[in-house]
Amino acid sequence: MTNTTPYPHLLSPLDLGFTTLQNRVLMGSMHTGLEEEPQGFKKLAAFYEARAKGDVGLIVTGGISPNFRGRVAPMGSELSKFWHVNKHKAITDAVHKYPTKICLQLLHTGRYAYHPFSVSASAIKAPINPFKPKALSERKIHSTIKDFAKSSKLAQEAGYDGVEIMGSEGYLINQFSCKRTNHRTDKWGGSIENRMRLGVEIVKAVREKVGKNFIIIFRLSLLDLVEGGNTWDEIVTMAKAIEAAGATIINTGIGWHEARVPTIATSVPRAAFTWVTKRLMGEVNVPLVATNRINMPDVAERVLAEGHSDMVSMARPFLADPDFVNKAAAGQADDINTCIGCNQACLDHVFEQKRATCLVNPQACYETELTFAKTPEPKNIAVIGAGPAGLAFSCYAAQRGHKVTLFDGASEIGGQFNYAKQVPGKEEFFETLRYFKRQLEEHNVDVHLDSYQDVESLRTRGYDELVFATGINPRTPNIPGINHPKVLSYLDVLKHHQPVGKKVAIIGAGGIGFDVATYLVEQESLTTNQQRWLKAWGIDTEYQNPGALLPIDHDLKHDREIYLMQRKETKVGANLGKTTGWIHRNTLKNHHVNMVPGVHYEQINDQGLVYSLQGEKKVLEVDNVIVCAGQESNDSLYQQLKDLGENCHLIGGADVAAELDAKRAIRQGAELAATI
Ligand code: FAD
Ligand code: NAP
Ligand code: SF4
Repeated sequence: MTNTTPYPHLLSPLDLGFTTLQNRVLMGSMHTGLEEEPQGFKKLAAFYEARAKGDVGLIVTGGISPNFRGRVAPMGSELSKFWHVNKHKAITDAVHKYPTKICLQLLHTGRYAYHPFSVSASAIKAPINPFKPKALSERKIHSTIKDFAKSSKLAQEAGYDGVEIMGSEGYLINQFSCKRTNHRTDKWGGSIENRMRLGVEIVKAVREKVGKNFIIIFRLSLLDLVEGGNTWDEIVTMAKAIEAAGATIINTGIGWHEARVPTIATSVPRAAFTWVTKRLMGEVNVPLVATNRINMPDVAERVLAEGHSDMVSMARPFLADPDFVNKAAAGQADDINTCIGCNQACLDHVFEQKRATCLVNPQACYETELTFAKTPEPKNIAVIGAGPAGLAFSCYAAQRGHKVTLFDGASEIGGQFNYAKQVPGKEEFFETLRYFKRQLEEHNVDVHLDSYQDVESLRTRGYDELVFATGINPRTPNIPGINHPKVLSYLDVLKHHQPVGKKVAIIGAGGIGFDVATYLVEQESLTTNQQRWLKAWGIDTEYQNPGALLPIDHDLKHDREIYLMQRKETKVGANLGKTTGWIHRNTLKNHHVNMVPGVHYEQINDQGLVYSLQGEKKVLEVDNVIVCAGQESNDSLYQQLKDLGENCHLIGGADVAAELDAKRAIRQGAELAATI
């Protein structure tokens, strides 16, 4: 590539001596769940091939254990026997049809293993895992090192270009390197030289086994973000020793899984952690990789141009768009389907032991199952509603060759996403609407905004099929006084921007109740102010303390008093996303929002909200009561036209409003488009 490309740093090759990467983009390791599915490796091969076709420089696979005890879960994947090799060849053959290189990640989970056979440096249970590990004996440490070397050799035989040794995120090697989890008194504990010995000996053993011309990436934890983590001096010492032991590349690890600091959620500012990789630049000679919340080519280019690293790692952005690099190289960044950092279909799925996919790209990990072949019989289709469901359907159906006309009564596309994107920390939702707008243009969808549809307008036009994506109506709970002037709906606040008083009760603590509370307390989004965000979450950029932690800033100032209420007795926010719910809860806690479960709403009157709690009547004297009490399907138009004998389909919130999210809306739109 020459400097005429739009992203000269990102797209320049990287010479590793014995091999050259075509660009500076590393697709970071992601466990997809396909690793454990029957026929999963064929689907994995298609998944990785699509990313190689999209010109990623270097792919790192999801973590595969070098032995039984290191597996993520009892049925987790392992590469330790010669008969494991063949299925990996399907992946390497598929990727090597293109110039992309691929490394297998070797992951020993240590005390994060979700089974009773787990091991660690010391017998200390992780706070996020019920299983207590056994401390590895000296003999078992040596056999673990041998297992890493053997797996690497098998990976080489399977056609991989290298391995990544997972030494961060609080997994086994990281458990040895930190005092938090390593209380040993033998030569594997105590001084940093002893604590880092496991990682260093693994790299040495692997290098000895695989020879010179094989990539060894070591993922080193540059920020543990837990008490008892490593100091900066220790990290520099480790990096130098890892390089001397034979690593080719050092990748950055940020935060243990048990850390109570968000590291990849959508509310984390873009490229929030690359400063720590920059700190290591110049301490070692091997290329360094920066990571976390880099999701667009301009962000990646800036990281490299400002000397924060030699490569960038992006993982979820390649679930969202396999053609990220191609599009960047063609100067079409606007066409990139941007990862919005929601975790809803990727990490949340993995934690629920479901196959990973992507909220904005339902084809991810379904490359062989959800396809959009050209239709032999193009149809004339009207879509009513340009929210996520209608947008997804329209774009995929038009891509297949159907003639699609999309109507929305609103003046802009996006439906409820237009309210979501205003919530502090959800700025990324803008990107999805930018992407859909481009797709509508690209596939010649005929878009009519400010165009509310009714029975007559649709019946007279002679469409072959009508697709209703008309969304929802907010639920109005049956509480005496619900029409009192103090009462606002979440749409009054987020859509009509009606003034809200200083003391507020929010009825309903689902996703929208949390978002409205965040909107009311975070006058300036922390996500767009990196320094304030780092301070708010207690991240020590000066690295004065082990683990780089400072006390969390619990004194985030705002001038409102907010009560977030629900009828259920359970913890407020218990049903939020698995990997992000704790962040929403902590954000509101740090802003002193009062969470009130187990209430019975009695009345809304001039005084405020009257409710009872454990049989005791209370009056909350508030200026406003904001209703966020869930949603009901807006399907009446569909019912009427169906009754008139039209060919009708119903998708998204209009179909089922309960527990509706954009993930379901977009997938349902895509699945209908694939078959219509
Ligand atoms: P909608 O988005 O409701 O779109 C329906 C569209 O139909 C509207 O644009 C409407 O104008 C149009 N319409 C209706 N009737 C007619 C008619 N007769 N003629 C023409 N047009 C019509 N989901 C997540 O997954 N993650 C989140 O983090 C998240 N955060 C959210 C935050 C907020 C504040 C809100 C309000 C929602 C959030 N959601 C989130 C929910 C998500 O936005 C919805 O699940 C999704 O928008 C539903 O998509 P849909 O296409 O079914 O309906
Ligand atoms: P929701 O998650 O179903 O929450 C509705 C809330 O209202 C609950 O707290 C419920 O609690 C309460 N409620 C329900 N019926 C009520 C009634 N009759 N009277 C009083 N309270 C009532 O719905 P939502 O918050 O409107 O969100 C809609 C969808 O958008 C969600 O399903 C979610 O998936 C999606 N969303 C996701 C996110 C995210 O971050 N992933 C963010 C926003 C929205 P009680 O019944 O206990 O009172
Ligand atoms: Fe990114 Fe959300 Fe897709 Fe995961 S599900 S890859 S976080 S957009």
